[in-house]
Amino acid sequence: MLRLENLVKRYKTGDQALKGVNLEIPKGQVLALIGPSGAGKSTLIRCINRLVEPTAGAVYLNDVNVAAVGAGELRRLRRRMGMIFQEYALVERLTVMENVLSGRLGYVGFWRSWFRKFPPDDVAEAFRLLDRVGLMHMADKRADELSGGQRQRVGIARALIQNPELLLVDEPTASLDPKTSRQIMRLVCELCTERGLAAIINIHDVMLAQMFGQRIVGLQLGEIVYDGPPNGLTSDV
Ligand code: ADP
Ligand code: ADP
Repeated sequence: MLRLENLVKRYKTGDQALKGVNLEIPKGQVLALIGPSGAGKSTLIRCINRLVEPTAGAVYLNDVNVAAVGAGELRRLRRRMGMIFQEYALVERLTVMENVLSGRLGYVGFWRSWFRKFPPDDVAEAFRLLDRVGLMHMADKRADELSGGQRQRVGIARALIQNPELLLVDEPTASLDPKTSRQIMRLVCELCTERGLAAIINIHDVMLAQMFGQRIVGLQLGEIVYDGPPNGLTSDV
């Protein structure tokens, strides 16, 4: 479903963050991406939806090269890729419900939506998702009233409301305590299974990666140094 071919990223500063990464992910697979700080994990995830522009190589989503399409087609392809961030990226002064609904429209469309009502189907789906992530009772709270774990649950619901095929998850638990981190990872992975979603999860914590990933990819200095099952990891990856 997703195929990276010889993906290279060289930043303007000269840092070569990715040195020709090849990776293929089938439908429904949850892949945990691990490696030390600076290995290129964030860069890899962000090259897939072109929040970071790859320097060379290809990113095939169902045989369409995301790295080669124009702006209109890119917008369409991004709808099929949900993104969950470390820092949640919620709109603070909007409610939980409004933040979830914003995922339906994409960032630009969202501001236009201030001026119109949301379709009832979208609202119904937003309530279903809020119920699933355990935040039904918080729908009308403002985002800035929530705890870190609750904020990430909103982030998850917002990513899922666009009904993506692929989830790109960048350090989802970096700002959370260990118990909340486990709960959030469990929730993301359960939802992937329920919905048949593939996911790439950049997760610093190797134990969480082993606990929840179906497949582990270890990155070091922009190269894949491990690709296999969770129980095959040795301590030096
Ligand atoms: P982490 O190791 O937690 O992933 P990063 O190293 O990615 O943190 O740093 C966080 C932010 O700083 C990111 O937005 C990243 O793009 C940016 N950043 C990281 N390294 C550099 C750099 N050498 N020059 C400019 N920006 C950088
Ligand atoms: P990780 O997510 O594994 O911590 P990153 O993808 O954030 O790794 O970073 C990989 C390399 O690219 C690092 O050397 C980092 O300093 C560099 N880097 C990341 N973001 C930027 C940026 N915006 N500008 C320049 N260099 C960057």
